[in-house]
Amino acid sequence: MHVAAFYLSDTHCMPRELSEPICPCCGMEEEIVYHALVSCREVQEVWFASQFGIRIIDGGATVFGNWFQQKFLDSKNKEAIGMACEILWAIWNRRNSWVFNYQKQSMMQVLSHAMSIHSPLVMQNKPTAVRSLNWKPP
Ligand SMILES: [Zn+2]
Repeated sequence: MHVAAFYLSDTHCMPRELSEPICPCCGMEEEIVYHALVSCREVQEVWFASQFGIRIIDGGATVFGNWFQQKFLDSKNKEAIGMACEILWAIWNRRNSWVFNYQKQSMMQVLSHAMSIHSPLVMQNKPTAVRSLNWKPP
């Protein structure tokens, strides 16, 4: 696939100064999908602090799809895949709140945002666990 397909920059929905494909968070590297969601130094700490404890190695994978496949999809663990998606969503929201509102969320805010999306789904999937807390033998 052509590398340009991985750029997030979309000039008609971004401020003029962001038309360059440089990461608005760190200002250090091109904002390809893998950088924005995984390898940006500001995002690496989110992955390491998450329940997955993932250390992002510089010079490793650079294609987001490959990374996500290896770390999550190959495991076929629906719970882990779901949580990873919520973390990705929170990371993307963090980036946008910086770009559009000049508010930079901390790593803990990103993780608690991800957890707040995730929790209701967990509860839906485990109704019997909640009920059994009050169960007594007849
Ligand atoms: Zn960056």
